[in-house]
Amino acid sequence: MNKEPMITVGIMDRQTNVSGTLNGNFHIDGFGGNLSGSFSARTSDGAIVFKDIGGRDVARSRSVRLMPHNDSTFTLFHVTIGISFHWERTENQTFRGGIVLQSRDDGTMAVINEVPLEDYLQSVVSSEMNATAPLEFLKTHAIISRSWLLSTLKRKKEKQARPSPAANVAGNEHEIMRWYEQEEHDIYDVCADDHCQRYQGITKIFSGNAETAVRETFGKVIMYRDEICDARYYKTCGGMTEDFCTAWGDKHVPYLISITDAPSQYSPVRTEEDAFAWIFSKPEAYCNTGDAGLLAKILPDFDRETKDFFRWKIEYAREELEEILRERSGLDFGTLKEIRPLQRGPSGRIFRLMIIGSKRTVVVGKELEIRRWLSRSHLYSSAFVVTTKNGSGGEVERFSFHGAGWGHGVGLCQIGAAVMASKGFSAEQVLAHYFPGTELRKAYEE
Ligand SMILES: [Zn+2]
Ligand SMILES: [Zn+2]
Repeated sequence: MNKEPMITVGIMDRQTNVSGTLNGNFHIDGFGGNLSGSFSARTSDGAIVFKDIGGRDVARSRSVRLMPHNDSTFTLFHVTIGISFHWERTENQTFRGGIVLQSRDDGTMAVINEVPLEDYLQSVVSSEMNATAPLEFLKTHAIISRSWLLSTLKRKKEKQARPSPAANVAGNEHEIMRWYEQEEHDIYDVCADDHCQRYQGITKIFSGNAETAVRETFGKVIMYRDEICDARYYKTCGGMTEDFCTAWGDKHVPYLISITDAPSQYSPVRTEEDAFAWIFSKPEAYCNTGDAGLLAKILPDFDRETKDFFRWKIEYAREELEEILRERSGLDFGTLKEIRPLQRGPSGRIFRLMIIGSKRTVVVGKELEIRRWLSRSHLYSSAFVVTTKNGSGGEVERFSFHGAGWGHGVGLCQIGAAVMASKGFSAEQVLAHYFPGTELRKAYEE
């Protein structure tokens, strides 16, 4: 049986100055003596200069590795979270494990945490969700976060043997189809932000629930046949989950297929008429919850600033949307005439969208690229319909987007899963609902 792996997490990247404190004793590989208290590091001529609490240069090297003694932790100042999303902000964060400061060829450095996988998961579970959430939900999360990570590491290994581009682009000047995978992390396994999984250190582990959830599921993953599942997740599906190929490559992943997030079955969205009917309705669904008390127990504070994610609405004056499109796509559409969905997945998420302007017409996809182009942060989802208000001359004055859900919709719906757990479903039942055909097994033993 395999053993629990160590993983490397990029906490900060492309930095020239980093500061923090060592809470307890650490030592640097190749340098004698213990270090504790405040520290700083900066890049200089391709090396990292590490200064201790007394301001002395204690190391100057391409790579500086600090390892903790006993239970020592370290705190990093001004870590950015929610990068380029609407909740972006900086925080001081505290971590377990070792720190590696690694210089890059462009004269910057990355701050990398070396940590055992199960410790990493305790933080992910409490960063993604409030630790006061129902225990069966936190267990569900521990299992999918572990599965996702192990399957990502395996794919990364396979890709190193057989390189392929990090961003996938197809099409020409009239059609831009783009999706993003995890390969861009060259010198660590995963980043600490939403791009991979939120990992915000140990300061958010308030209650013992995250720890219990990880311990009670030690090593457990979901598997489809003999493969660990690429268990993807997001905030809210909006009533139906989505097929893998709406968000990423054109392949069929048998356990990442659209399901209804309710006890009954709904018909998938096939036409624009279906999309209007679906998005303007508020169907019964596990994630359609107005239970503020439950949401407060599940979501971290900064996610609760987002309201109405089951159904939402955003409006733009035409000129404003023209400017956003110019900024976000790098293309000048001239006067915007129409935004026309061409193809949708079963949950209503658009993966081919035609944007028609006086200067050009472009088809854009897939779902994340569409969300990126149509908002200064990101639209909540690509499951939307567009209505317009026209001026007296027939030109469009305002564009309104009515939408459903928050995130790509593929795999587990976090709000839906939390509601299921609060209704008494077990982690195993929740996983079987969102990942059809999978089973729970252990990837490694203690
Ligand atoms: Zn990442
Ligand atoms: Zn849902």
